[in-house]
Amino acid sequence: MRVEHADVVVVGGGAAGLSAALAAVEACAAAGRDDAVVALVSKVYPMRSHTVAAEGGAAGVVPGGEDTLDQHVADTLAGGAGLSHPDAVRYVVERAAGELARLERLGMPWSRTAEGRPAVRRFGGMSRPRTWFAADKTGFHLLHTLFQTTLRERSIRRYDEHVVLDLLLTAEREARGIVGYDQQRGEVVVVLAPAVVLATGGYARAWGTSTNAGIVTGDGLSMALRAGLPLRDLEMVQVHPTCLPGSGLLITEAARGEGGVLVDATGQRYLADYGLGPVTPVGAPEPRRMELGPRDKLSQAFWHAERDGRTVPTRDGGVVHLDLRHLGKAVIDERLPLVSGLARRFAGVDPVHEPVPVRPAAHYTMGGIVTTASGQVLDDAGRPVDGLFAAGECASTGLHGANRLGSNSLVETLVVGREAGLAAAGVAGSRAPAQGTELVDHARDLADTRLAMRGRGTEPPAPLRKELGRVLDADVGIFRDADGLARASATLDDLHARFQDVRVADTADVLNTDWAQVLELGAMLTVARGAVAAAVARTESRGAHQRLDHPQTDDVARHSLVTLDPAGETHVRLVPVEGAGTAIGADIGTDIDTAVGTPGGTAVGTTQGDA
Ligand SMILES: Cc1cc2nc3c(=O)[nH]c(=O)nc-3n(C[C@H](O)[C@H](O)[C@H](O)COP(=O)(O)OP(=O)(O)OC[C@H]3O[C@@H](n4cnc5c(N)ncnc54)[C@H](O)[C@@H]3O)c2cc1C
Repeated sequence: MRVEHADVVVVGGGAAGLSAALAAVEACAAAGRDDAVVALVSKVYPMRSHTVAAEGGAAGVVPGGEDTLDQHVADTLAGGAGLSHPDAVRYVVERAAGELARLERLGMPWSRTAEGRPAVRRFGGMSRPRTWFAADKTGFHLLHTLFQTTLRERSIRRYDEHVVLDLLLTAEREARGIVGYDQQRGEVVVVLAPAVVLATGGYARAWGTSTNAGIVTGDGLSMALRAGLPLRDLEMVQVHPTCLPGSGLLITEAARGEGGVLVDATGQRYLADYGLGPVTPVGAPEPRRMELGPRDKLSQAFWHAERDGRTVPTRDGGVVHLDLRHLGKAVIDERLPLVSGLARRFAGVDPVHEPVPVRPAAHYTMGGIVTTASGQVLDDAGRPVDGLFAAGECASTGLHGANRLGSNSLVETLVVGREAGLAAAGVAGSRAPAQGTELVDHARDLADTRLAMRGRGTEPPAPLRKELGRVLDADVGIFRDADGLARASATLDDLHARFQDVRVADTADVLNTDWAQVLELGAMLTVARGAVAAAVARTESRGAHQRLDHPQTDDVARHSLVTLDPAGETHVRLVPVEGAGTAIGADIGTDIDTAVGTPGGTAVGTTQGDA
């Protein structure tokens, strides 16, 4: 086992993690701590982080135009359906354009207007065009820009292909580093540090049909749960309306922002029949109407259209068609080259000449580790957890609420990632270096438990993984009800029990992807159980959580908070929404406490609570 020291550990090499690492270096340098070490740990090479797949763009009010910060705040709050925190929204909105401009100074090739201003496009739920973009490869260019900048920082020590197994916290719940596994050398690595930033991404890959990469498995969320920290609003999972059938590959909302229209099996623009009208002219999209309505509404319209027999059957389910033909080859080539390539390669259609078949897929997870607007992690009582920060899709900052507006998340990774990195560096500068044999012994125990999974067990993981995706698709999708959620809950209990005897066939020390995928499956099961428990508890319809049996929206908006007890049981509470960071822990009398899980959590010790 290798034990190393750093000032700050950042877990995650996506946009949030790289932003945090760069900010931490900057803050250390400004404080004269040029010898500071920022450990950047990622289970994949950073450029393979899921941010690379982001297509459409990042929202930010371009100064000097018609758009206003107040309007961006208002749109975001409307999308959040009562669960966004106004102060958190304003915090991000006010810093958005500054971060997008900072990125440009680092080399980001934003698309521009003929006059040289940043080009902005329309996105669903946004009342004005305000999404900055680099064609439809925004995530690739953004991640590349950040990554190339990290390469010149000698203070950043990279731990690529290191799987973080757990957080190291003291008994007083102060962050002290991480324990991970170096897949290339086949060795446990402990990195001790007084400040940790979690930037591990979301958990939407748990769903069978998903736009997310295989690595988006909720690892950081399950670490937080095991550390006794709450996760907020896990049931809020955004389903994107336009994805390729079968693969789930995303056809970005930008395609509709550029003027693409959705038609049913008979060629009719069906959205007006499901509350998204009045119909807008073809090729002239208008904010919040028809194809530019909020994503949840478009996905719900698809659900109804499918039941009304208006979709085209395929072996991967019914599809509607996204028609881009009227945009013409020049616009498609310039603005939507990635979409065009995906459609040709994975659906066999050229969007210049044929409409693209699409159907919904799980896309973005609004819920996450509870933080303030600037990424400080909060415990169950709303108190800051010393030295622990979270940013990006793994965090619930209060920005997105019950439904994220497209293009608000990339900008959140930049803003909150940066603030978390600055704050983490501040903590590191004011604390003694983290050390202690107790911590190292604890880390060894945690690692040994995980390593002991290799070469044992009888349950093959693949069927568990498949069943997890199937049940989430079937019963925890666009619309939910008590029967479906009960089915999902029972299935997840069964999967949880079987996971305790999961088979890890490969016993290799080096590049043991078999083992790594089982760890990811454990994380997904843990977080999925939390999401289902929260969905059961929320007996109303709000944002991305629509209940057929509870169509009303409660007068009082409440967050769900999921925790895991030491026996491995999942608990849910509903708490009122207040200002960022103040609501949690404040019970309001009618709160419920729903415990689910295998009684006694007997096998939890074998996996440290996962699954
Ligand atoms: C197809 C697609 C298109 C999108 N397009 C847009 C868009 O146009 N605009 C927009 O605003 N949003 C978009 N989004 C959402 C946005 O891309 C993501 O929310 C954002 O990129 C997440 O960034 P992140 O840094 O939080 O996490 P990620 O980019 O997912 O990175 C997570 C990092 O954590 C690391 N990690 C995770 N677990 C571990 C572990 N156990 N040990 C070590 N490392 C670990 C991973 O290696 C990775 O480096 C899109 C999402 C998808 C799926």
